Amino acid sequence: MIEVYDCPVCGSQELVIVKDHVFHKPIDCPNPPPAHVPYATERLWILFRHILPGTDKIRIKVILCSQCGLMFTNPRMTPDEVAVKYSVIESLESARLRSKLDPPRKIEKRAKRIKAEIERFLGAPVAGMRILDFGGAQGHNLVPFAEKNECCVVDLVKQEMPQGVDYLGKSLDDIPAHYRFNLILLSHVLEHSLDPVTLLSELASNLCENGAIYVEVPLGAFREWRVLKEPLTHLNFFSEQSLSACMRLAGFSRLSIRTRFQWVTHGMNWCVNAIGKLTSSQVEVENHTHASTRKQMKNFRLYVPFLVFKSVEKTKRLILRR
Ligand SMILES: [Zn+2]
Repeated sequence: MIEVYDCPVCGSQELVIVKDHVFHKPIDCPNPPPAHVPYATERLWILFRHILPGTDKIRIKVILCSQCGLMFTNPRMTPDEVAVKYSVIESLESARLRSKLDPPRKIEKRAKRIKAEIERFLGAPVAGMRILDFGGAQGHNLVPFAEKNECCVVDLVKQEMPQGVDYLGKSLDDIPAHYRFNLILLSHVLEHSLDPVTLLSELASNLCENGAIYVEVPLGAFREWRVLKEPLTHLNFFSEQSLSACMRLAGFSRLSIRTRFQWVTHGMNWCVNAIGKLTSSQVEVENHTHASTRKQMKNFRLYVPFLVFKSVEKTKRLILRR
């Protein structure tokens, strides 16, 4: 892992340490970890066995960029270490079993919400388009689009796809050269990325003229940076401000950004939903507003729905256990 001195989004060196975390090698974790081992323990096992062998603990700082508002972990993995991380995850029986034992829930509700959000932005139903879900796993978010559009998934792992959705391959290199998309979905990917602006720019180059991208990330600036359980999964903690900066730097000139308390895969959490469009028309460029990272870090009203949801879930679990 390497210490970085420039913001991974805007390159600024005006960086402030906002939190220090120390992570320890999990003791007594079987090799390889069985499926009942908690997710965070398994990720720490991968970190200390495969990325930092010979190390027992690591200090990870959370940094806030004063310019663009991005919060991120430092030191960061190298691209080679990220490749090791994904190859170990793919090889682990526990990772596969976990998704089978606890599959994503309410997938239809989530997919319909995404479609409604995009149609609100575009001001028209999504039809006759070629759509890519990058990092789209089993293609669930494309189901409401599949009947009237050509739908594709690019993801590291090939899985069975719903009817009307094609798997194109593991990376953007697997997309046929002549393909251009009208719409790209990028849901819960950027928080894992070492270089979010480059990823967004590469996706932008796969869009048609006037193409649009839907980006969804957790509102990491709310509380995740404070209570981080392991440093291997999320490398960036976004706010409306930092996501907006990423999208502008990647060339998306018309933007809509909203923070919502919404269902993701296994529960509800605060997320930032953004839609960006490549457009040269000045008429279409909106002066969208966004909340600053510092404001979203300290907005304690965000805890109200969050704590209500957590306590309802806890009560449900207690009732089911009886
Ligand atoms: Zn920055």
